[in-house]
Amino acid sequence: MSNFNGLMMEANLIGGQWVGADSGTAIDVTNPATGDVLGTVPNAGGDETQRAIAAASAAFKTFSRTPLSERVGLLQKLHDALMDNQEDLAQMLTAEQGKPIFEARGEIAIGAAYVKWFAEEIRRAKGEIIPAPGNDRRLMTTRHPVGVVGAITPWNFPSSMLARKLAPALAAGCTVVAKPATSTPYSGLVWGKLCQDVGYPDGVVNILTGSARGIGGAIMESPDVRKVTFTGSTEVGKTLIRQSADTVKKVSMELGGNAPFLVFDDADVDAAIEGAMIAKFRNMGQTCVCTNRFYVQAGIHDTFVAKLKEAVAALKLGNGAEDGVQQGPLIDDGAVAKVEEFIDDATSKGGDVVQGGKRHANGGSFFEPTVITGATQDMMFAKEEIFGPLAAVFKFEDEDAVIEMANDTDFGLAAYAYTRDIARAFRLNEGLEYGMVGINTGLITTVEAPFGGVKESGMGKEGGSQGLDDYMETKYFCVAGL
Ligand code: ADP
Repeated sequence: MSNFNGLMMEANLIGGQWVGADSGTAIDVTNPATGDVLGTVPNAGGDETQRAIAAASAAFKTFSRTPLSERVGLLQKLHDALMDNQEDLAQMLTAEQGKPIFEARGEIAIGAAYVKWFAEEIRRAKGEIIPAPGNDRRLMTTRHPVGVVGAITPWNFPSSMLARKLAPALAAGCTVVAKPATSTPYSGLVWGKLCQDVGYPDGVVNILTGSARGIGGAIMESPDVRKVTFTGSTEVGKTLIRQSADTVKKVSMELGGNAPFLVFDDADVDAAIEGAMIAKFRNMGQTCVCTNRFYVQAGIHDTFVAKLKEAVAALKLGNGAEDGVQQGPLIDDGAVAKVEEFIDDATSKGGDVVQGGKRHANGGSFFEPTVITGATQDMMFAKEEIFGPLAAVFKFEDEDAVIEMANDTDFGLAAYAYTRDIARAFRLNEGLEYGMVGINTGLITTVEAPFGGVKESGMGKEGGSQGLDDYMETKYFCVAGL
């Protein structure tokens, strides 16, 4: 069995040591495309996490004072280490997660790009000089790393979600205790190895796998962890926000989405289909910015549906490790069951399955990419995140009504619209209650821009110049008696 050129770490990193769980128990990691066991990872819990936090606290004392140029240099080396190992890292990611290999290569590259971005951005982490009310004093602000950071990440982007958290934390001079998702731990653990290889001191990066409650609980309880950054479901995010209250931690939350994708009569329909395929079927529909609801204006509706159906039928499904495959398996059987539930609910309320609609002949957690038309606001996917390869198409008549429907959700992460009317584009940006709005594109994520949601999609930004803010405290410095 491949160990991906030595990158598959089957132990946890605590204080610079690769260790098993105290209990000696381990968890199997499987390839969702084949069902094969790839290996195991430690089933760690609270005690191991407390040791990791102690190591991170000790390391913070010195790492937080590392000269800027050294921190920048380490990040540059980390970027290069990722790109030097891009192919092996991508293959390992696809093996544990299922996404097509070209997407996995892209994920490693964007993770490396975040590292590079924050290596650049930390050099501009300026404070300010504030005009004082009297001549006897000078006022300024200075910026400081927040302290030990707890980072909890999901399985859908097991490498780049950690990149967005580790890179700004390390740039700022924070130390980290991270917990990757149990189903995709290797893409998380390898960050520990690469950080060690490029010379991060022991204890700066600690990574644990195992019990979400045990590890998460210890992170949340510890007064030494000053910030928690989480990407995952809104339900778990709410629990973490509640738990953060006892020690008043800073929190950043990238939670669920329910992205609307609006196609107006004046849209370039082929461009809209291209955007729709990316915004819906990337990672088999398992991203928090994936389109959950297509709203298509009546005049263009039938053309859009015909072309969407054709594009979806042409998707090549299979083991993501094979070049050319565009759709791999879903992460597990629970994800498949959930998609089936959305389809049953929609068809029972009058929706029509016009493409796909059932488990794929490949078996396992493969599901046919699906299109449903006749979608209505009383169907489950109008409110809940699908997280699977199901495109639900609603028909609408006018702009004001569709903005209202698009906003009729507790979520507010990404929204997309296709229109050639520039005035409408600005009206949409102002009317849509979302943290990110994309016009005439289905892919908006880039390291230069702040990624993040409003409403129950979360708080805080990742990427952009704002992506550092959550890892730094602003201190007010007043020098008087002058
Ligand atoms: P997803 O379904 O996208 O993985 P989850 O919110 O279930 O979303 O999980 C995201 C991450 O949060 C995973 O690493 C998971 O193990 C972790 N997690 C789940 N429940 C808890 C919890 N109660 N406390 C801390 N972490 C948790």
